Amino acid sequence: MIQQTLVLIKPDGLKKSLTGNILTRLSETKLDIVAAKMVQVDRVLAERHYVYLKDEPFYEELLRYIQGIYHKKKVMALIYHGEDAIKKVRDLAGATNPEEADSVSIRGAYGRITTKGVYENVIHASGNIKEAEREIKLWFQPDEIIIQLYPTKTVTLEKVKRILWKVS
Ligand code: UDP
Ligand code: MG
Repeated sequence: MIQQTLVLIKPDGLKKSLTGNILTRLSETKLDIVAAKMVQVDRVLAERHYVYLKDEPFYEELLRYIQGIYHKKKVMALIYHGEDAIKKVRDLAGATNPEEADSVSIRGAYGRITTKGVYENVIHASGNIKEAEREIKLWFQPDEIIIQLYPTKTVTLEKVKRILWKVS
């Protein structure tokens, strides 16, 4: 089944200069990258992304982690598209707990558990089709993706402020 999945290289992955390494590992899947950008994650985006974990004891620390409070304040967000994209990327990422993850998986090789108990596992990958749709729509707007993944609507906005390049 053709699918799309959200991948985040989390702040610890960027801090450890693992971007090239992770992208090379993901290229083994032969999936297509259909969107990519750098994001400075604010608390609102962090809360929305991890809404289903809001009652967990590690939630506040997790929000700090994904915002990059302890590392670099940025995340690389990508969408991978192709046959069985969700499982292929999850298999390469490895188990949530980096100590339990297969040692050749990305999380097994590079993740750690902090003294505060958060799994700094370097990479996020959507877990299923529903999660992928919710997460892709949270992190990307339709015009940031080079193919159409979900139905869109066109609206005309008035008095919308935008920053544009100055023409010299
Ligand atoms: N997490 C954690 N401790 C836990 C479970 C999760 O620190 O006991 C963190 C970890 O960074 C994980 C993220 O919360 O990647 C999201 O958790 P989820 O259960 O969705 O795992 P994933 O889908 O990322 O494998
Ligand atoms: Mg998950």
